[in-house]
Amino acid sequence: MATKKKAVKAKATTKVKIVKQAGTQAYEKALLKMRADIYRLVQGNKSPDLSATDVGDEADQATQSTERELMFELSDNERNTLDAVEAALRKIDTGAFGQCETCHKKIAALRLKAIPHARHCIDCQAKLDRPRR
Ligand SMILES: [Zn+2]
Repeated sequence: MATKKKAVKAKATTKVKIVKQAGTQAYEKALLKMRADIYRLVQGNKSPDLSATDVGDEADQATQSTERELMFELSDNERNTLDAVEAALRKIDTGAFGQCETCHKKIAALRLKAIPHARHCIDCQAKLDRPRR
């Protein structure tokens, strides 16, 4: 008799595991690089202030204010890009990457390859870019 019982036990699915959205590794890599590039660009504009490195207690505060200063040093354009890159990286974690924020349709792969941090599909972006009269 060929009545082999399949003893396939369901693997523990109760454990909540964050699985990154499949097929996004290349985009994630590109996004992380973009983010690093923006930070490097901004930090490159500054001359490092080494005189303040021996202040122990104020170290944490200094780090925070540096981050705040960093945001001020960014141009609007760079800040927008950085925002979009961060948002895209979050979307990879939540599985919403590649989805238009306006119409929730899939953004074309070709567009994502060119702009991995694109928040909108090409149709919605065109509408957003159109100057209002
Ligand atoms: Zn759209």
